[in-house]
Amino acid sequence: MSKALTTLKKIFGYPAFRGQQAEVIDHVVAGDDCLVLMPTGGGKSLCYQIPALLRPGVAIVVSPLIALMQNQVNGLKQIGVRAAALNSSLSFEEATLVEQNLLTQQYDLLYVAPERLLMPRFLRVLAKIPIALFAIDEAHCVSQWGHDFRPEYSQLFVLHQRFPHVPRIALTATADLDTRQEIIEKLQLTNAKVFIDSFDRPNIRYQVIDKANGREQLLGFIHAQHAGEAGIVYCASRKKVEEITEWLVNQGMQAVAYHAGMEMQQRQLNQEKFLREDGVIMVATIAFGMGIDKPNVRFVAHLDLPKSIEGYYQETGRAGRDGRMANAWMAYGLNDVIQHWRMIEQSQTQFKFKQVSIKKLEAMLLLCESTTCRRIQMLRYLGENTETEPCGNCDICLQPPQVWDATIEVQKALSCVYRTGQMFGAGHLIDVLRGNLTARVKEWQHDRLSTFAIGQDLSEKAWRSVFRQLIAFGLVTTDGEGRGTLLLTEASRAALKGQRTVYLREHTALLFQRAASHSAVSLSNSDKFTHQAINCVN
Ligand code: ADP
Ligand code: ZN
Repeated sequence: MSKALTTLKKIFGYPAFRGQQAEVIDHVVAGDDCLVLMPTGGGKSLCYQIPALLRPGVAIVVSPLIALMQNQVNGLKQIGVRAAALNSSLSFEEATLVEQNLLTQQYDLLYVAPERLLMPRFLRVLAKIPIALFAIDEAHCVSQWGHDFRPEYSQLFVLHQRFPHVPRIALTATADLDTRQEIIEKLQLTNAKVFIDSFDRPNIRYQVIDKANGREQLLGFIHAQHAGEAGIVYCASRKKVEEITEWLVNQGMQAVAYHAGMEMQQRQLNQEKFLREDGVIMVATIAFGMGIDKPNVRFVAHLDLPKSIEGYYQETGRAGRDGRMANAWMAYGLNDVIQHWRMIEQSQTQFKFKQVSIKKLEAMLLLCESTTCRRIQMLRYLGENTETEPCGNCDICLQPPQVWDATIEVQKALSCVYRTGQMFGAGHLIDVLRGNLTARVKEWQHDRLSTFAIGQDLSEKAWRSVFRQLIAFGLVTTDGEGRGTLLLTEASRAALKGQRTVYLREHTALLFQRAASHSAVSLSNSDKFTHQAINCVN
């Protein structure tokens, strides 16, 4: 039996390695660098903890969160591993003691905050003792465009320069190709072997629904599938977190809130309650979650659209870590998309950052508007070459959405964007299409346009769904000034000219509406419209 396996059994009490743990451990024990991409809950910690015990010297683990370090250190101490943490929560005396113990080689593992590790004085201390390895946990924190960016992380290449013979292992659960590339570059891991474990979490069922009254839908979902069970509800803003928490409590649920604007003490109390008690619902912004290891979270719900697939994947990954059936549920609507866009466009950041953010948002939208297995889409985005069959455990697989030939409706919508001068958002465009004589319609005399009232056969909700999909498919885009104004794109020209058939998802409301109104719309109207649509771009 290998030394690694013996250690796994004797110290950690597990019978066998999971996934690629054994390969990773052998690689690090042999003194080589690597990058490990494993989903949350995949067992990344053992990948450096076992080499830490098998190689001479102390393993230095860089970790971005104090709470995370503390949990790991406590766990290790309990099983008799000599571990400690060095971070800003320690008093001067405590920190000095840890440094002394380090110098006298009392530790197998030392968890260090990046800013502390990079202090010249600390680097000099490290130069005096044998080091087993450097582990860089949550390595995606180097990514400037990511959601957990930590500037100090991008300085960690120093380790390689100062200690070229010490193996480095970088670990993360965020694995899209761009982030992966950025980690390799910033940490100078060009020659490191990359280990990728499957990111599939087969026990999580993904589901995305059309947002109507989000909170009622959430309540219905919890009542129907998760009564009395623990879950996390993610909201986009602090205000919404508070509102939803209060509302859930009023509905008789055990709900607590968590966001960065709360008092530290209250936040910690709520987190403790969620971790220790049964059946508590945590309502939170994305500030909540990194390093949370609660195995029996039965659902993760999103009441707002996440910014990116990586974010969504990480957040939903907190469900079902015990391997039992869990749900990832999301309600999203057109307003979410417009709001995200606005936030990105109005943010005071570099152009490049906005571009990356928009690209990520678009991928997220495509996932939401998907008509094929969501799991396959997500895994592809995360860089897995999946030739797998549809999963059978997402809403699309379980209830395949019908698609309909929406070429004419798409032409109507695009034509309306064009006729109104590419100056308006979806709300006004829908008013024009549906023939609503609003003040604005009158003010702009849009009731005189050829596109006025040509879309009465679809409900407002159905039109919203059409516009959402147009955005997702790049058939319209925004003006970049944050007003939600929709513009035509290269792709829209082809659609307008009828050179391209466009299939959209059929939503329930849409089906209903179409069935009810089909007799009322004469075919000649549509024919007439097609000509107009084509004329307007010629
Ligand atoms: P990650 O850091 O990848 O999110 P952890 O390292 O915290 O995951 O591991 C998740 C859980 O799985 C922990 O409770 C850990 O003890 C357990 N675990 C890891 N490897 C194994 C294994 N080989 N056998 C059994 N349990 C394991
Ligand atoms: Zn599926």
